[in-house]
Amino acid sequence: MNPILVIFSGGQDSTICLMKAIAERGADKVHAVTFDYGQRHALEVQLAQEIAREQHIASHKVIAVDWYRDITHNSLLDKSMAISREPGAPFPNTFVEGRNALFLLTAAIYAKSRGITELMIGVSDADYSGYPDCREPFIRSMNATLNLAMDCTFTLYAPLQHLTKAQEWALADRLGCLDYIRTRTLTCYEGIPGDGCGQCPACKLRAAGLAEYLRTKDQRR
Ligand code: ZN
Repeated sequence: MNPILVIFSGGQDSTICLMKAIAERGADKVHAVTFDYGQRHALEVQLAQEIAREQHIASHKVIAVDWYRDITHNSLLDKSMAISREPGAPFPNTFVEGRNALFLLTAAIYAKSRGITELMIGVSDADYSGYPDCREPFIRSMNATLNLAMDCTFTLYAPLQHLTKAQEWALADRLGCLDYIRTRTLTCYEGIPGDGCGQCPACKLRAAGLAEYLRTKDQRR
């Protein structure tokens, strides 16, 4: 099995990716990179470090992108700004311009320096906020761009691309890590790990997906 580098935030989606990579390749083949870009909650980076340690992966690198906040403005990076979605807006004001392009480029540079050409990212376009850099055409295009940029054959995996939140929980359950994902990861915009504040859009989406999955699971019994 080839080594793989997972773009890992410590949130639900990327932790499911990490667990999937570990299940498929073994922890000694799994590397992770976490970007510290001044997200609303520093706890996110700390949780990512804890999870990486607990799962005994081959390596975990935190890369500071502390200048990001200086050049873009949104409610994910600016704690004084309320999280909202303007009527008719294509996505909420939590959108961070260019984030996945920046992360994938940086991760690919780092991966290549370590002889790794496979990368995984936990983007989903099925029921998320409509961020353009979570869509499949972007991921495909970025893969082609990285190959051209570094004259290398990278493979980008986005295993959650077409999964709804309920299907993500089903995948976590199949991987035997549903409770781990539920209690150890942070998705909440208020920075509360596990089930979170229960009120913000991220918590509502996460809880609705979990409830839907548990309902269908019960029905199959
Ligand atoms: Zn919340």
